[in-house]
Amino acid sequence: MAFLGQGLEATIAATLVLACSAACMCDDSGFEKLPPPKPGDWLYVHKERGQTVAQYREQCANRKTKQRSVIYIQPFGDMASTRPELLETLREYLSLFFDCRAVTLDPLPLPKEAFHPKRRWGWDQYDADLLLRKLEDRTPRDAVAVAGITDADLFHGDMNFVFGLAAMTMRVGVYSINRYAHTYRGQPKDCTLLKRTLKVANHEIGHLFFMEHCTRYKCTMNGSNSLIESDSRPIHLCPICLKKLEWNIGFDRVKRYKKLRDFYRKIGLKDDAAFVAKQAERPGP
Ligand SMILES: [Zn+2]
Ligand SMILES: [Zn+2]
Repeated sequence: MAFLGQGLEATIAATLVLACSAACMCDDSGFEKLPPPKPGDWLYVHKERGQTVAQYREQCANRKTKQRSVIYIQPFGDMASTRPELLETLREYLSLFFDCRAVTLDPLPLPKEAFHPKRRWGWDQYDADLLLRKLEDRTPRDAVAVAGITDADLFHGDMNFVFGLAAMTMRVGVYSINRYAHTYRGQPKDCTLLKRTLKVANHEIGHLFFMEHCTRYKCTMNGSNSLIESDSRPIHLCPICLKKLEWNIGFDRVKRYKKLRDFYRKIGLKDDAAFVAKQAERPGP
């Protein structure tokens, strides 16, 4: 089973200083090249080399097909009653981002056996591996991906916490929004709980479509070690990652961008709406 986790030492998040790039490193794609990693960044800790489009086409073992075409969202715990609007917005977003039907399943209780009280620094946490196993046991046959979501804090192995964890070969992932309500000094204004939730979901479901972390551009498929690093990546797929998804799913790039533009406008992400509107006018990736 292959695992791809996000989030590592919570202490890193507390000590990192947000750095703004002085000069735009964008090429004509409109995307900024990923600068060399700083101590504490995901790529500083994990020496990943990236995945080309050709490698992706060779490695990808999960494509949207007639038989497998639905993204399922599986809420764990109270989320369905405490955050029904967030879940519905997420469902609509995933259907547009991945051009797949998206369905929210009835909620499941958080498994008692996954609970670890006051595991680190007094935080109650749940073992993400055990939540993944719950999903594996009940994956619908027509699922191209199943995304578990909870507002409980998650951990994996020795990691202090994880934002998300995916079992790629099983087409299941689980994500926590627990830390996305946190704020810090200098936080970008649009980094709301809603936007962070959409980003973790498109990133982690990207993994379920066998996309590895992006090392070339600032892209939603960048790995991240902290909330600050997560906030620094955009909600969009860079041209390379977009090519991968386009090959996998076979959507109309311009139509998809226009639907995303309207959606971002509707939920108040004006800058993101303007960005995808511009991308829709560019020649193919
Ligand atoms: Zn990841
Ligand atoms: Zn990318």
